[in-house]
Formats: sequence, C-alpha cells, structure tokens
Amino acid sequence: MHALEGIHYYFRKAARIMDVGERIETLLATPLREVKVQVSIELDNGEIRTFIGYRTQHDNSRGPMKGGLRYHPTITQDECVALASLMTWKTAVVNLPYGGAKGGIAVDPTQLSMKEMERLTRKYVDQIQDVIGPTRDIAAPDVNTNPQVMAWIMDQYSRYHGHSPAIVTGKPAELYGTRGRDSATGRGLLYITREILRDAGMPMKGTRFAIQGFGNVGSHTAQLLWQDGGVVIAVSDVYGGVYNPQGLDVPGLFEHVKRTGTVTGFGGGQACASEDVLFSDCDVLIPAALGHALNRNNANAVRARLVIEGANGPTDPEADEILDKRGVLVVPDILANAGGVTVSYYEWVQNLQHLSWEEDRVNAELERTMKEAYDRVAQLARSRKVTLRTAAFILAIGRVGKATVLRGI
Ligand code: GLU
Repeated sequence: MHALEGIHYYFRKAARIMDVGERIETLLATPLREVKVQVSIELDNGEIRTFIGYRTQHDNSRGPMKGGLRYHPTITQDECVALASLMTWKTAVVNLPYGGAKGGIAVDPTQLSMKEMERLTRKYVDQIQDVIGPTRDIAAPDVNTNPQVMAWIMDQYSRYHGHSPAIVTGKPAELYGTRGRDSATGRGLLYITREILRDAGMPMKGTRFAIQGFGNVGSHTAQLLWQDGGVVIAVSDVYGGVYNPQGLDVPGLFEHVKRTGTVTGFGGGQACASEDVLFSDCDVLIPAALGHALNRNNANAVRARLVIEGANGPTDPEADEILDKRGVLVVPDILANAGGVTVSYYEWVQNLQHLSWEEDRVNAELERTMKEAYDRVAQLARSRKVTLRTAAFILAIGRVGKATVLRGI
C-alpha cells in the first residue's frame, strides 16, 4: 500500500463521520510546506556522495510544527507527508500546543561512519535551517536517529541563529535533554496498556506480549511491561526474532543485545523469523518497527486479542478492517505512541524556561496526559460507536479544525 493512502483513508473516514465538509477536509489534508533538499557530503575515503533530505510541515494551527527525523534508505517524500500529518493528529490527541511535521534522509546509516553521520546531519541542517526554528518546526529522534544526532542538529542550527536548545528535542541529558525522554514512548505505551487491560478486565500480571521491533520503542516497552508483571513471549529486530512461550528473561535479553547488537542468538528462547512474532500465540501484539507491518495478506494470522501500535502507521486499512471484524481491539499509533512527543514537549518547555525537571515529574505529567487522552478517546469510541482509531481521529480533527476556523483562513 502507498504510504499516504492508509493515513488519508483513516483521516477521511473520521472527517466524513464528523461531516466537516469537502473544503475543510481538503485544507486539513494538504501539507503547508514540503521541502526536498540535496545533502552532499564527502565520505571518509574522499568520495562525494549525494543524498536526498526531506522535511514536511503539515499543519501549524495549534502551534509550532513538531516531529521526528528518520534516516532510512526507503524514505520518500510521500511518506514524510503521511507521517507529518500523523504528527498533527497525534499532538492534537494528547492536546499539545503543536502542529505536525516529519523529515528524513534517504540513507542506510549502517553504511556510514560516525564522522560521516555527523557531516550528513550538519549538511541537512544547513539546507533546512531557514524553514525550521524553536517557534516554527522542532525536530526529534525517529527511526535510526538518536540523542547524538539531535546534539549535532542543535549545534549546527545554533551556528546560524545563536544558542537554540529548543530547536530540537530528544537531546542528550548532558546537553539540554530532559530526563525520561529516552524511555518516554515505551512508558506512554505502558500507561495506555494499563488502561486498556483494565477496561478489558485483563490483569497485567501474566498477560503475554509479543513485540515486533527492538529499537527505542520496542526495547523500552519490553522492559517496562516486564517490570510491571507482563510476560514478554516474543521479540524481533531486523535480523530475526526470538520466542519463548514461558516468557523471555528480559534483563538477560538486554545484556545479550548490549553485547551483540541484536536479539537474535539469545539463548533464552527459540529463534524465529522477524515476521513470525506478529503471529505468535499472545494476548497483546505491539508492532513497534516500521509502517505496513499488518496488511491484508497477514492480518488474519494475528492471534492476539489486542494490538497496540508502537510504530507509526503499522496497520493498513484492510488489516484494520479484518482485525475489527475478528474482534481484535486496535489501539492506534496517534494515541498509543504519543508518549514520545509528549515528553518532547516537556523538554521544549524546560529549554524555553531554562530549567530542568526531575524524572518523577516528567513521568507523572506523562501519565496524566496519556490517561486523559485515553479517557477522551475511549469515551468518544463508546458514544459514537466507532473504533478507537476513528475516535482518536475525530478528537484530533475536531481540535485542529476548531483552531483553524478560530484563527481564520
Ligand atoms: N518520532 C516520534 C514520533 O513519531 C517523536 C516525535 C517528537 O518527539 O517530536 O512521535
């Protein structure tokens, strides 16, 4: 499925139920600005290489645009539009004073040295520094980017505009980063999982989780669920998966990953293919890798009762429908994984105020925000008799639409 199609489909479905009208629908679906730039660097061996960088700014009616930066060989402009719009809806669901943006560079970062990564990041900032800013568009980590990359962005942007820590979030703790940002998406998922399990009458203790993806989102989610009494029976990364119906020893798994860089080869379970994790015999499936993991070809093979979306756009509309028909409850990305951008907002606020919060405060505020968003979405789903995804879109479109109309077009 084409990257844009899925998200447009979900957006349109909710917009039609709300009867927002074709003109407002078109306005809300159209990104404000799409930037595509040349990112040429000299490799360590002296060769010149040219990469393509993107930044899409979708909507700013509720505030500066916000969203991550991903380094991935298959990223396209359309995908950035889709992911930027998802950020507009996500920030609105958790009621942050932000709009949505997303960017990236088409590159395989495993092929680059640290120095090359740094040159690439700085060059990308050179190319977009005039359209971003702490009150315009604020970047953050996403697939294959990390606090170090954010530090380079801050430094490079500051060379043009003066000291600007609030230009980017997810920075290292030692350099204007907030406490709790690294685990924030996983922690937000934990809070949402607790709510949904409570509503489903399932205790956390003993609930079996399968997690696809072991990057920032998957790994922290696994650890936090395990600490909360959940049983993590399967995990995967790009190299493969590991499965143990009795539950994986999560601290042991972390040690293994630290040593080898992958979940594969972990002695505490049987090896399986990455994709098999999606179909394992579990209660809750958490796709936390890339988009389109669940599609029309495989949705019938899902055995979980609940799907909680850690990744952005992991479920295609056809799969969503199949899961709904089969009675599998899906908690959408724009609610489930909003913990990351929520703590990004706390980081930005701290940067603007030149102060630093304790981790307990970050986590308490995050918990309150996630619970409130969940309550609103669950209530809307019940009253409108729609899925949680459609309810989340209705909540978001309502907030963004209202701001758009109040500001005037
Ligand atoms: N990349 C994350 C997301 O997709 C975080 C974005 C942010 O913190 O701005 O939600």
